[in-house]
Amino acid sequence: MTRTSYLLERVLVGEHVAQDVVVTVEDGRFVDPVSPLTRGNRHFPAEVSAGRSQNPRVGGETVTRIPGLTLPGIANCHSHAFHRALRGRTQRGEGSFWTWRDQMYAVAGRLDPDSYYELARLTYREMLCAGITSVGEFHYLHHQPDGTAYDDPNAMGRALIAAAGDAGIRIALLDACYLAAGIGKPPEGVQRRYCDGTAEAWAERVADLRGDDTTVIGAAVHSVRAVPADQMATVVRAARGRPLHVHLSEQVAENEQCLAAHGRTPAELLDEHGALGDLTSAVHATHLTDHDLALLGGSRTRSCFCPTTERDLGDGIGPSVALADHGSRLTLGSDSHAIIDPFEEMRAVELNERLATQQRGHWTAAALLQAATEEGQASIGFPDAGRIEVGQRADLVTIDPTSVRTAGTGATHETAVFAASAEDVTHVMVDGVLHETRSRREDLGHQLDRTIERVLR
Ligand SMILES: [Zn+2]
Repeated sequence: MTRTSYLLERVLVGEHVAQDVVVTVEDGRFVDPVSPLTRGNRHFPAEVSAGRSQNPRVGGETVTRIPGLTLPGIANCHSHAFHRALRGRTQRGEGSFWTWRDQMYAVAGRLDPDSYYELARLTYREMLCAGITSVGEFHYLHHQPDGTAYDDPNAMGRALIAAAGDAGIRIALLDACYLAAGIGKPPEGVQRRYCDGTAEAWAERVADLRGDDTTVIGAAVHSVRAVPADQMATVVRAARGRPLHVHLSEQVAENEQCLAAHGRTPAELLDEHGALGDLTSAVHATHLTDHDLALLGGSRTRSCFCPTTERDLGDGIGPSVALADHGSRLTLGSDSHAIIDPFEEMRAVELNERLATQQRGHWTAAALLQAATEEGQASIGFPDAGRIEVGQRADLVTIDPTSVRTAGTGATHETAVFAASAEDVTHVMVDGVLHETRSRREDLGHQLDRTIERVLR
Protein backbone atom coordinates (compact mmCIF):
# COMPACT_ATOMS: atom_id res chain seq x y z
CA MET A 1 0.00 0.00 0.00
CA THR A 2 1.50 3.36 -0.95
CA ARG A 3 1.65 6.08 1.63
CA THR A 4 2.16 9.61 0.45
CA SER A 5 2.52 12.69 2.60
CA TYR A 6 1.71 16.23 1.58
CA LEU A 7 2.59 19.51 3.18
CA LEU A 8 -0.33 21.90 2.71
CA GLU A 9 0.74 25.50 2.95
CA ARG A 10 -2.54 26.85 4.30
CA VAL A 11 -5.74 24.97 5.07
CA LEU A 12 -9.31 25.92 5.94
CA VAL A 13 -10.47 23.71 8.80
CA GLY A 14 -13.99 24.38 9.98
CA GLU A 15 -13.88 28.00 11.08
CA HIS A 16 -10.08 28.06 11.45
CA VAL A 17 -7.14 28.62 9.13
CA ALA A 18 -4.15 26.29 9.71
CA GLN A 19 -0.63 26.82 8.41
CA ASP A 20 1.83 24.15 7.13
CA VAL A 21 -0.27 21.06 7.73
CA VAL A 22 1.01 17.57 6.94
CA VAL A 23 -1.52 15.02 5.72
CA THR A 24 -0.72 11.42 4.90
CA VAL A 25 -2.77 9.48 2.38
CA GLU A 26 -2.98 5.71 2.16
CA ASP A 27 -5.39 3.76 0.00
CA GLY A 28 -7.38 6.89 -0.84
CA ARG A 29 -7.91 8.03 2.77
CA PHE A 30 -6.27 10.33 5.24
CA VAL A 31 -4.38 8.27 7.83
CA ASP A 32 -2.02 8.69 10.76
CA PRO A 33 0.68 9.57 11.57
CA VAL A 34 -0.35 12.64 13.07
CA SER A 35 -1.91 15.30 11.10
CA PRO A 36 -1.78 18.42 13.21
CA LEU A 37 -5.44 18.85 12.26
CA THR A 38 -6.67 15.83 14.15
CA ARG A 39 -4.87 16.83 17.35
CA GLY A 40 -6.33 20.27 17.18
CA ASN A 41 -2.77 21.58 16.84
CA ARG A 42 -2.92 24.33 14.31
CA HIS A 43 0.80 25.07 14.36
CA PHE A 44 3.72 23.90 12.35
CA PRO A 45 4.73 20.45 13.67
CA ALA A 46 8.22 20.33 15.13
CA GLU A 47 9.35 17.35 13.08
CA VAL A 48 8.73 19.07 9.74
CA SER A 49 11.74 20.70 8.19
CA ALA A 50 10.24 22.46 5.27
CA GLY A 51 11.38 25.95 4.63
CA ARG A 52 10.08 26.95 1.22
CA SER A 53 11.72 24.11 -0.66
CA GLN A 54 9.58 22.18 -3.12
CA ASN A 55 9.84 18.81 -1.38
CA PRO A 56 10.47 19.12 2.34
CA ARG A 57 11.14 16.18 4.65
CA VAL A 58 9.05 14.99 7.59
CA GLY A 59 10.64 12.48 9.98
CA GLY A 60 13.07 11.40 7.24
CA GLU A 61 10.32 11.05 4.59
CA THR A 62 10.02 13.35 1.58
CA VAL A 63 6.64 15.01 1.32
CA THR A 64 5.03 16.80 -1.61
CA ARG A 65 4.41 20.44 -0.94
CA ILE A 66 1.11 21.91 -2.15
CA PRO A 67 1.31 25.68 -2.03
CA GLY A 68 -1.84 27.79 -1.84
CA LEU A 69 -5.08 27.73 0.14
CA THR A 70 -6.55 24.25 0.55
CA LEU A 71 -10.12 23.28 1.36
CA PRO A 72 -11.99 19.96 1.52
CA GLY A 73 -13.49 18.32 -1.58
CA ILE A 74 -16.56 20.08 -2.99
CA ALA A 75 -19.78 18.26 -3.95
CA ASN A 76 -21.90 19.39 -6.90
CA CYS A 77 -25.22 18.00 -5.68
CA HIS A 78 -27.42 18.76 -8.67
CA SER A 79 -26.29 18.19 -12.26
CA HIS A 80 -27.93 17.44 -15.58
CA ALA A 81 -24.74 16.78 -17.55
CA PHE A 82 -26.23 17.25 -21.02
CA HIS A 83 -27.38 20.80 -20.26
CA ARG A 84 -23.72 21.79 -20.65
CA ALA A 85 -24.35 21.87 -24.43
CA LEU A 86 -26.84 24.74 -23.92
CA ARG A 87 -24.43 27.21 -22.31
CA GLY A 88 -24.53 30.55 -24.10
CA ARG A 89 -26.96 29.25 -26.69
CA THR A 90 -30.16 29.92 -24.78
CA GLN A 91 -29.43 33.55 -23.97
CA ARG A 92 -31.06 35.29 -26.94
CA GLY A 93 -34.54 36.71 -27.03
CA GLU A 94 -37.18 36.58 -24.33
CA GLY A 95 -39.04 33.82 -22.60
CA SER A 96 -39.27 31.92 -19.32
CA PHE A 97 -38.27 28.63 -17.75
CA TRP A 98 -40.77 26.95 -20.09
CA THR A 99 -39.33 28.39 -23.33
CA TRP A 100 -35.81 27.50 -22.11
CA ARG A 101 -37.10 23.98 -21.51
CA ASP A 102 -38.04 23.62 -25.20
CA GLN A 103 -34.41 24.34 -26.16
CA MET A 104 -33.15 21.89 -23.54
CA TYR A 105 -35.50 19.19 -24.91
CA ALA A 106 -34.01 19.66 -28.41
CA VAL A 107 -30.57 18.63 -27.08
CA ALA A 108 -32.10 15.78 -25.05
CA GLY A 109 -33.50 14.40 -28.31
CA ARG A 110 -30.09 14.08 -29.95
CA LEU A 111 -28.01 12.07 -27.50
CA ASP A 112 -27.24 8.35 -27.47
CA PRO A 113 -25.10 6.44 -24.96
CA ASP A 114 -21.85 7.12 -26.86
CA SER A 115 -22.37 10.83 -27.41
CA TYR A 116 -23.72 11.26 -23.88
CA TYR A 117 -20.66 9.53 -22.46
CA GLU A 118 -18.36 11.91 -24.32
CA LEU A 119 -20.28 15.07 -23.38
CA ALA A 120 -20.62 13.99 -19.74
CA ARG A 121 -16.95 12.99 -19.42
CA LEU A 122 -15.84 16.46 -20.50
CA THR A 123 -18.47 18.16 -18.35
CA TYR A 124 -17.30 16.17 -15.32
CA ARG A 125 -13.70 17.01 -16.20
CA GLU A 126 -14.68 20.68 -16.15
CA MET A 127 -16.15 20.05 -12.70
CA LEU A 128 -12.94 18.39 -11.49
CA CYS A 129 -10.94 21.40 -12.67
CA ALA A 130 -13.34 23.63 -10.68
CA GLY A 131 -12.70 21.73 -7.42
CA ILE A 132 -15.62 19.30 -7.53
CA THR A 133 -14.84 15.78 -6.29
CA SER A 134 -18.38 14.27 -6.29
CA VAL A 135 -21.36 14.93 -8.53
CA GLY A 136 -25.03 14.18 -7.91
CA GLU A 137 -26.30 13.44 -11.42
CA PHE A 138 -30.09 13.84 -11.55
CA HIS A 139 -30.59 11.46 -14.44
CA TYR A 140 -33.79 11.25 -16.48
CA LEU A 141 -32.63 10.75 -20.09
CA HIS A 142 -33.07 6.98 -20.02
CA HIS A 143 -34.47 5.53 -23.24
CA GLN A 144 -34.32 5.67 -27.04
CA PRO A 145 -36.02 8.60 -28.79
CA ASP A 146 -39.26 6.66 -29.33
CA GLY A 147 -39.35 5.64 -25.67
CA THR A 148 -38.31 2.00 -26.10
CA ALA A 149 -35.51 0.74 -23.90
CA TYR A 150 -31.96 0.26 -25.16
CA ASP A 151 -30.74 -3.39 -25.22
CA ASP A 152 -29.28 -2.51 -21.84
CA PRO A 153 -32.13 -0.46 -20.31
CA ASN A 154 -29.53 1.32 -18.16
CA ALA A 155 -27.18 2.14 -21.05
CA MET A 156 -27.48 5.91 -20.50
CA GLY A 157 -26.97 5.66 -16.71
CA ARG A 158 -23.96 3.41 -17.20
CA ALA A 159 -22.53 5.90 -19.71
CA LEU A 160 -22.74 8.58 -17.00
CA ILE A 161 -21.10 6.35 -14.40
CA ALA A 162 -18.26 5.54 -16.83
CA ALA A 163 -17.91 9.23 -17.73
CA ALA A 164 -17.46 10.25 -14.09
CA GLY A 165 -14.94 7.47 -13.47
CA ASP A 166 -12.92 8.42 -16.54
CA ALA A 167 -13.05 12.10 -15.59
CA GLY A 168 -11.71 11.26 -12.13
CA ILE A 169 -14.68 12.20 -9.92
CA ARG A 170 -17.18 10.19 -7.87
CA ILE A 171 -20.83 10.04 -8.93
CA ALA A 172 -24.16 9.57 -7.23
CA LEU A 173 -26.47 8.53 -10.06
CA LEU A 174 -29.82 9.90 -8.86
CA ASP A 175 -32.02 8.00 -11.28
CA ALA A 176 -35.21 9.99 -11.72
CA CYS A 177 -38.68 8.55 -12.01
CA TYR A 178 -40.52 10.52 -14.71
CA LEU A 179 -43.96 9.31 -15.74
CA ALA A 180 -46.04 12.30 -16.83
CA ALA A 181 -45.71 15.56 -18.77
CA GLY A 182 -47.80 17.30 -16.17
CA ILE A 183 -50.47 16.40 -13.65
CA GLY A 184 -52.77 13.99 -15.54
CA LYS A 185 -50.87 14.37 -18.86
CA PRO A 186 -48.98 11.55 -20.60
CA PRO A 187 -45.39 12.17 -21.72
CA GLU A 188 -45.07 13.64 -25.19
CA GLY A 189 -42.22 14.12 -27.67
CA VAL A 190 -38.78 13.79 -26.14
CA GLN A 191 -40.32 13.14 -22.70
CA ARG A 192 -40.90 9.56 -23.89
CA ARG A 193 -37.16 9.09 -23.45
CA TYR A 194 -37.54 9.84 -19.74
CA CYS A 195 -40.47 7.57 -19.04
CA ASP A 196 -40.54 4.00 -17.69
CA GLY A 197 -44.35 3.73 -17.83
CA THR A 198 -44.90 3.01 -14.13
CA ALA A 199 -43.02 3.58 -10.89
CA GLU A 200 -42.81 -0.21 -10.53
CA ALA A 201 -41.02 -0.51 -13.91
CA TRP A 202 -38.72 2.38 -12.98
CA ALA A 203 -37.82 0.61 -9.70
CA GLU A 204 -37.11 -2.67 -11.51
CA ARG A 205 -34.78 -0.98 -13.98
CA VAL A 206 -32.91 0.91 -11.25
CA ALA A 207 -32.56 -2.25 -9.14
CA ASP A 208 -30.25 -3.56 -11.84
CA LEU A 209 -27.69 -0.77 -11.27
CA ARG A 210 -24.86 -1.45 -8.82
CA GLY A 211 -22.80 1.04 -6.84
CA ASP A 212 -19.20 0.67 -5.74
CA ASP A 213 -16.63 2.65 -3.75
CA THR A 214 -16.91 5.68 -6.05
CA THR A 215 -20.48 5.23 -7.30
CA VAL A 216 -23.70 5.64 -5.33
CA ILE A 217 -27.01 4.59 -6.87
CA GLY A 218 -29.64 6.99 -5.57
CA ALA A 219 -33.13 7.92 -6.67
CA ALA A 220 -35.15 10.95 -7.64
CA VAL A 221 -38.76 11.98 -7.99
CA HIS A 222 -38.41 14.23 -11.02
CA SER A 223 -41.11 16.57 -9.62
CA VAL A 224 -44.70 16.44 -8.45
CA ARG A 225 -45.60 17.22 -12.09
CA ALA A 226 -43.89 14.10 -13.39
CA VAL A 227 -44.75 11.44 -10.79
CA PRO A 228 -48.47 10.88 -10.13
CA ALA A 229 -49.33 11.05 -6.45
CA ASP A 230 -50.56 7.45 -6.36
CA GLN A 231 -47.15 6.19 -7.57
CA MET A 232 -44.93 8.28 -5.31
CA ALA A 233 -44.88 5.76 -2.48
CA THR A 234 -43.40 3.16 -4.83
CA VAL A 235 -40.46 5.45 -5.58
CA VAL A 236 -40.00 6.27 -1.89
CA ARG A 237 -40.00 2.57 -1.00
CA ALA A 238 -37.43 1.72 -3.69
CA ALA A 239 -35.22 4.62 -2.53
CA ARG A 240 -35.19 3.62 1.13
CA GLY A 241 -31.71 3.92 2.65
CA ARG A 242 -30.33 5.91 -0.28
CA PRO A 243 -30.29 9.56 -1.30
CA LEU A 244 -33.65 10.69 -2.73
CA HIS A 245 -33.71 14.02 -4.58
CA VAL A 246 -36.68 15.95 -5.97
CA HIS A 247 -37.17 19.20 -7.90
CA LEU A 248 -39.40 21.19 -5.55
CA SER A 249 -41.34 24.41 -6.10
CA GLU A 250 -38.90 25.91 -8.60
CA GLN A 251 -41.77 27.60 -10.41
CA VAL A 252 -44.94 29.29 -9.17
CA ALA A 253 -46.87 27.49 -11.94
CA GLU A 254 -45.84 24.12 -10.47
CA ASN A 255 -47.30 25.13 -7.10
CA GLU A 256 -50.52 26.37 -8.70
CA GLN A 257 -51.02 23.15 -10.68
CA CYS A 258 -50.34 21.02 -7.61
CA LEU A 259 -52.75 23.03 -5.46
CA ALA A 260 -55.44 22.81 -8.16
CA ALA A 261 -55.06 19.04 -8.60
CA HIS A 262 -54.41 17.94 -5.01
CA GLY A 263 -55.35 20.83 -2.74
CA ARG A 264 -51.80 20.71 -1.39
CA THR A 265 -48.47 22.36 -2.06
CA PRO A 266 -45.72 20.15 -3.57
CA ALA A 267 -43.97 19.92 -0.17
CA GLU A 268 -47.24 18.87 1.50
CA LEU A 269 -47.84 16.25 -1.19
CA LEU A 270 -44.33 14.83 -0.78
CA ASP A 271 -44.76 14.78 2.97
CA GLU A 272 -48.07 12.96 2.65
CA HIS A 273 -46.36 10.20 0.64
CA GLY A 274 -43.38 9.81 2.97
CA ALA A 275 -40.86 11.42 0.61
CA LEU A 276 -39.33 13.89 3.08
CA GLY A 277 -36.56 12.99 5.53
CA ASP A 278 -32.86 13.26 6.25
CA LEU A 279 -31.83 11.36 3.10
CA THR A 280 -34.01 13.61 0.94
CA SER A 281 -32.84 16.77 -0.83
CA ALA A 282 -35.38 19.30 -2.09
CA VAL A 283 -33.77 20.88 -5.14
CA HIS A 284 -34.46 24.63 -5.62
CA ALA A 285 -37.10 24.97 -2.84
CA THR A 286 -37.75 28.46 -4.16
CA HIS A 287 -41.44 29.28 -3.66
CA LEU A 288 -42.44 27.99 -0.21
CA THR A 289 -45.20 28.64 2.28
CA ASP A 290 -44.56 28.83 6.04
CA HIS A 291 -46.03 25.34 6.33
CA ASP A 292 -43.62 24.08 3.63
CA LEU A 293 -40.69 25.55 5.59
CA ALA A 294 -41.85 23.75 8.73
CA LEU A 295 -42.29 20.43 6.88
CA LEU A 296 -38.87 20.57 5.20
CA GLY A 297 -37.03 21.71 8.32
CA GLY A 298 -38.91 19.45 10.71
CA SER A 299 -38.16 16.37 8.59
CA ARG A 300 -34.43 17.33 8.26
CA THR A 301 -34.84 17.38 4.47
CA ARG A 302 -31.89 19.20 2.90
CA SER A 303 -32.34 22.13 0.49
CA CYS A 304 -30.17 22.04 -2.60
CA PHE A 305 -29.86 25.55 -4.03
CA CYS A 306 -28.56 26.13 -7.57
CA PRO A 307 -28.30 29.93 -7.59
CA THR A 308 -26.54 30.40 -10.94
CA THR A 309 -29.21 28.34 -12.71
CA GLU A 310 -32.06 29.83 -10.71
CA ARG A 311 -31.05 33.33 -11.75
CA ASP A 312 -30.41 32.21 -15.33
CA LEU A 313 -33.93 30.82 -15.61
CA GLY A 314 -35.60 33.64 -13.70
CA ASP A 315 -36.88 31.24 -11.05
CA GLY A 316 -36.69 33.61 -8.10
CA ILE A 317 -34.68 33.71 -4.88
CA GLY A 318 -35.29 30.84 -2.46
CA PRO A 319 -35.57 31.40 1.29
CA SER A 320 -32.18 29.95 2.27
CA VAL A 321 -32.04 31.58 5.70
CA ALA A 322 -35.63 30.66 6.61
CA LEU A 323 -34.98 27.06 5.55
CA ALA A 324 -31.85 26.90 7.70
CA ASP A 325 -33.69 28.48 10.63
CA HIS A 326 -36.31 25.73 10.37
CA GLY A 327 -33.63 22.97 10.39
CA SER A 328 -33.08 22.26 6.69
CA ARG A 329 -29.38 22.02 5.82
CA LEU A 330 -28.11 23.77 2.69
CA THR A 331 -26.30 22.10 -0.22
CA LEU A 332 -25.38 23.45 -3.66
CA GLY A 333 -25.50 22.40 -7.30
CA SER A 334 -24.70 23.80 -10.73
CA ASP A 335 -27.80 22.18 -12.27
CA SER A 336 -27.94 23.45 -15.90
CA HIS A 337 -24.21 24.31 -15.99
CA ALA A 338 -24.81 27.84 -17.28
CA ILE A 339 -21.68 28.21 -15.11
CA ILE A 340 -19.62 25.49 -13.43
CA ASP A 341 -18.08 27.40 -10.56
CA PRO A 342 -18.83 26.26 -7.00
CA PHE A 343 -17.35 29.46 -5.56
CA GLU A 344 -19.92 31.48 -7.47
CA GLU A 345 -22.72 29.20 -6.19
CA MET A 346 -21.54 29.69 -2.59
CA ARG A 347 -21.38 33.49 -2.66
CA ALA A 348 -24.61 33.79 -4.64
CA VAL A 349 -26.59 32.36 -1.71
CA GLU A 350 -25.45 35.22 0.54
CA LEU A 351 -25.55 37.88 -2.18
CA ASN A 352 -29.09 36.92 -3.22
CA GLU A 353 -30.23 37.29 0.40
CA ARG A 354 -28.66 40.75 0.45
CA LEU A 355 -30.62 41.75 -2.65
CA ALA A 356 -33.83 40.36 -1.22
CA THR A 357 -33.48 41.93 2.25
CA GLN A 358 -31.24 44.99 1.74
CA GLN A 359 -29.13 43.65 4.63
CA ARG A 360 -25.66 42.02 4.67
CA GLY A 361 -24.29 39.11 6.67
CA HIS A 362 -26.83 36.25 6.51
CA TRP A 363 -24.38 33.42 5.74
CA THR A 364 -20.79 33.26 6.94
CA ALA A 365 -18.15 32.09 4.48
CA ALA A 366 -17.45 29.10 6.75
CA ALA A 367 -21.13 28.08 6.68
CA LEU A 368 -21.25 28.31 2.89
CA LEU A 369 -18.09 26.21 2.63
CA GLN A 370 -19.69 23.64 4.92
CA ALA A 371 -22.70 23.51 2.57
CA ALA A 372 -20.46 23.02 -0.46
CA THR A 373 -18.25 20.35 1.13
CA GLU A 374 -19.29 18.20 4.11
CA GLU A 375 -23.05 18.73 3.85
CA GLY A 376 -23.09 18.36 0.08
CA GLN A 377 -21.02 15.18 0.08
CA ALA A 378 -23.32 13.61 2.70
CA SER A 379 -26.45 14.54 0.74
CA ILE A 380 -25.37 12.42 -2.24
CA GLY A 381 -24.25 9.40 -0.26
CA PHE A 382 -20.60 10.20 0.54
CA PRO A 383 -20.75 10.99 4.27
CA ASP A 384 -17.06 10.03 4.54
CA ALA A 385 -15.97 12.93 2.31
CA GLY A 386 -15.82 16.69 2.73
CA ARG A 387 -13.61 16.90 5.84
CA ILE A 388 -9.82 16.82 6.08
CA GLU A 389 -9.60 14.28 8.89
CA VAL A 390 -8.09 10.88 9.57
CA GLY A 391 -10.32 8.14 8.16
CA GLN A 392 -12.01 10.41 5.63
CA ARG A 393 -11.68 10.12 1.87
CA ALA A 394 -8.54 11.98 0.78
CA ASP A 395 -10.11 14.88 -1.12
CA LEU A 396 -8.43 18.29 -1.33
CA VAL A 397 -9.03 21.44 -3.36
CA THR A 398 -6.29 24.05 -3.55
CA ILE A 399 -6.74 27.57 -4.85
CA ASP A 400 -4.14 30.19 -5.68
CA PRO A 401 -4.45 33.02 -3.14
CA THR A 402 -2.30 35.31 -5.29
CA SER A 403 -4.25 35.32 -8.55
CA VAL A 404 -5.56 38.63 -9.88
CA ARG A 405 -8.89 37.79 -8.26
CA THR A 406 -7.67 36.54 -4.89
CA ALA A 407 -4.52 38.61 -4.26
CA GLY A 408 -4.65 40.82 -1.20
CA THR A 409 -7.77 39.18 0.25
CA GLY A 410 -6.05 37.50 3.22
CA ALA A 411 -6.17 33.83 2.15
CA THR A 412 -9.11 33.08 4.44
CA HIS A 413 -12.59 31.56 4.12
CA GLU A 414 -13.73 34.86 2.64
CA THR A 415 -11.07 34.55 -0.07
CA ALA A 416 -12.49 31.21 -1.15
CA VAL A 417 -16.14 32.20 -1.00
CA PHE A 418 -16.19 35.86 -2.03
CA ALA A 419 -13.13 36.29 -4.27
CA ALA A 420 -12.06 33.01 -5.87
CA SER A 421 -13.35 31.49 -9.08
CA ALA A 422 -13.07 28.03 -10.61
CA GLU A 423 -10.09 29.33 -12.61
CA ASP A 424 -8.11 29.78 -9.38
CA VAL A 425 -8.13 26.05 -8.58
CA THR A 426 -4.61 24.68 -8.99
CA HIS A 427 -4.83 21.16 -7.49
CA VAL A 428 -7.65 18.73 -6.81
CA MET A 429 -7.28 15.43 -4.99
CA VAL A 430 -10.04 12.82 -5.29
CA ASP A 431 -9.75 9.67 -3.15
CA GLY A 432 -5.99 10.20 -2.91
CA VAL A 433 -5.39 10.85 -6.63
CA LEU A 434 -3.85 14.28 -7.16
CA HIS A 435 -4.70 16.28 -10.31
CA GLU A 436 -2.85 19.41 -11.37
CA THR A 437 -5.65 21.38 -13.01
CA ARG A 438 -4.14 24.48 -14.64
CA SER A 439 -2.39 22.67 -17.48
CA ARG A 440 -5.55 20.75 -18.35
CA ARG A 441 -7.94 23.61 -18.90
CA GLU A 442 -6.86 24.76 -22.33
CA ASP A 443 -7.08 21.36 -23.96
CA LEU A 444 -10.34 20.69 -22.14
CA GLY A 445 -11.83 23.83 -23.68
CA HIS A 446 -10.97 22.66 -27.18
CA GLN A 447 -12.42 19.22 -26.52
CA LEU A 448 -15.67 20.64 -25.12
CA ASP A 449 -15.99 22.94 -28.10
CA ARG A 450 -15.60 20.12 -30.60
CA THR A 451 -17.88 17.73 -28.74
CA ILE A 452 -20.71 20.23 -28.29
CA GLU A 453 -20.51 21.24 -31.97
CA ARG A 454 -20.90 17.57 -32.85
CA VAL A 455 -23.86 17.06 -30.51
CA LEU A 456 -25.70 20.09 -31.91
CA ARG A 457 -24.89 19.47 -35.57
ZN1 LIG B 1 -32.61 20.15 -12.20
